Amino acid sequence: MKSFRTIAFLAGAFASLVCSAPAFADELVVYSARNEHLIQPIFDAYTKQTGVEIKYITDKEGPLLQRLLAEGKNTPADLLITVDAGNLWHAASEGLLQPVDSQILKENIPANLRDEQDRWFGLSLRARTIVYSTERVKPEQLSTYAALGDEAWKGRLLLRTSKKVYNQSLVAMMIAEYGEEQTEQIVRSWVANLAAAPFSNDTQAMEAIVAGQGDVAIVNTYYFGRLLRKQPDLKLALFWPNQEQAGSGVHVNVSGAGVTRYAKHPEAAVKFLEWLSSEQAQNLFADANLEYPVNPKVAPNAEVAAWGTFVPSPFNLTQAGKLQEQAMRLMDRAGYR
Ligand code: FE
Repeated sequence: MKSFRTIAFLAGAFASLVCSAPAFADELVVYSARNEHLIQPIFDAYTKQTGVEIKYITDKEGPLLQRLLAEGKNTPADLLITVDAGNLWHAASEGLLQPVDSQILKENIPANLRDEQDRWFGLSLRARTIVYSTERVKPEQLSTYAALGDEAWKGRLLLRTSKKVYNQSLVAMMIAEYGEEQTEQIVRSWVANLAAAPFSNDTQAMEAIVAGQGDVAIVNTYYFGRLLRKQPDLKLALFWPNQEQAGSGVHVNVSGAGVTRYAKHPEAAVKFLEWLSSEQAQNLFADANLEYPVNPKVAPNAEVAAWGTFVPSPFNLTQAGKLQEQAMRLMDRAGYR
C-alpha cells in the first residue's frame, strides 16, 4: 500500500533526478517490501542516532524489483529490504544487488543466513514450523516434516498454497537436504493427507485447526505469535521438528536486505546494514514482527522466547533461491496447489 509519504517522496525523487542534485551522504533511500509499520520505527531510531535521513517507498516484492530493473542506473534506491531468501536471491540473480565486503556483517550474521556471494544479508529470522491442536494432538505424536505424510495424519493436515514463496523455500531446502526424489515422495504424502484445499495464508490454516477442520499445519512463527496476541487462550502450540537427526533442524528463513547495484550512497548503505545487524538494533528489527534476531549474541524477546528453543537447519539459504524453480515444478507434479 502506497502512502501519501510515498507519493510525496516519489515526486521529490523525480525532481532530484531532473535537477541532478548532488548525492548527499547523510541520506539513504530504501525500497522496502516490508510494511511501513515494521520499518519506520527502525529508520527513526537510526536517524535519531546518526542524523542520516532515510527516505523510503514500500510496495510488494514484484513491483519493487520491476521498478529497480526499469530504473537501472538512475534508481534513487540505495537498499532493498524484503522477506524470504528466495526473494533476496531472485533480486541478486537479476543483478540488482552489489556484493558487500564487511567484516562486521560476517561476524554478526551466521554464514547460512546470508548470500554466498555477499549480495544480501538476513536481518531477522523466522521459523517455518509445525503448529498443532493442543486439544487433539500430543507433541509426542510429532517428529519431522516428513512424518506429516504418515498414515496417522490422513485427513488432518492443513497447508498454505504452494504459490507462496515461503513454501517454495521450504521445499527447496528439503531438496537440498533430502534430494529431489525423496522430497517429492514427502510432498506427495502431504497432499494425500490434506484435510482441506491449501489456504491463501498461514493464519487461515491456524484458524481452520481451531475450527476443527484439521489438526496440524506448517506456518511461520510470527503468524502464530500474532494470533496468540489476539487470542491468549488459543488452543494451538508450536512444535519444533527434525530435532533428533544430526545435520537437520527446523526450516528457518529471513527477512533481509542488500545494497542496490547502482546505489548513490553505497558506503552509507553498508553502515546502515552493519547497524541493523548490531546488538543494539537487532531486537528492534526482530521484535517489530515477533521474529528472532539473526545475531547469535542477541536473545529473542520474552514473548518469542516463550515458544521454546530449537535447532535450526544448518543449510545455506542461498539454496532456497537456487532450487526454487525445481521446488515449484516438484510441488506441481506432486499435486500441491
Ligand atoms: Fe509473512
